[in-house]
Amino acid sequence: MAKVTLLPDKNYTVGKIVGVGQNYAEHRAEMGAGQDHPPVLFLKPPSAILAEGQPITLPDFSQNVHHEIELALLISRKGKNIAPEDWRNFVAGAAIALDLTLRDLQRQAKDRGEPWSVSKGFDGSCPISKFVPLSEISDLNNLQLELQVNQVLRQKGCTADMIFPVAQLLPYISKYFTLEQGDIILTGTPAGVDKLVSGDRLLARISELGTMEFQVA
Ligand code: MG
Repeated sequence: MAKVTLLPDKNYTVGKIVGVGQNYAEHRAEMGAGQDHPPVLFLKPPSAILAEGQPITLPDFSQNVHHEIELALLISRKGKNIAPEDWRNFVAGAAIALDLTLRDLQRQAKDRGEPWSVSKGFDGSCPISKFVPLSEISDLNNLQLELQVNQVLRQKGCTADMIFPVAQLLPYISKYFTLEQGDIILTGTPAGVDKLVSGDRLLARISELGTMEFQVA
């Protein structure tokens, strides 16, 4: 069973991982997506979790693995139809995550009207840091995100630019999926997504959460 750690030492067994796609306007623009629909929801299985210290493995069934840095939320308890003012009662903490995406398979799925399960949910598609308790974060809606690959800045953004901020995401997601302890929400990526190649060194940073490093095998 995949586990994640809430600092300093509490472990959670990971349930489902709910991905939020197209939650930043500039990323929608770079993907050629429209601006007038709600964010897209998709799921990754717990086997997508990749703890810091393990290498990212590029699958042999894709030629175009993209990085997407995202703020991740850890769900603390069961919630359905969560009210916007209640979101804090359901979030244990926040972490830095990568929503690795097989862009070629995703493009094919979009063209054929097929689901994104493989392009988003393959093994190791969710590298993630340890979670910082919510009580130690001043404002989830004003965190700076930054991803460097081989010391070159690729992605930069701020959670203030989310189309659906956290208080809106929990009601939106829990309308469709009951959230349970150990579930993780990936809140979407800012612009600058790009391809990873063998040997790349990634340094991800979110203000107040610290840094996370991964190497591509
Ligand atoms: Mg994403």
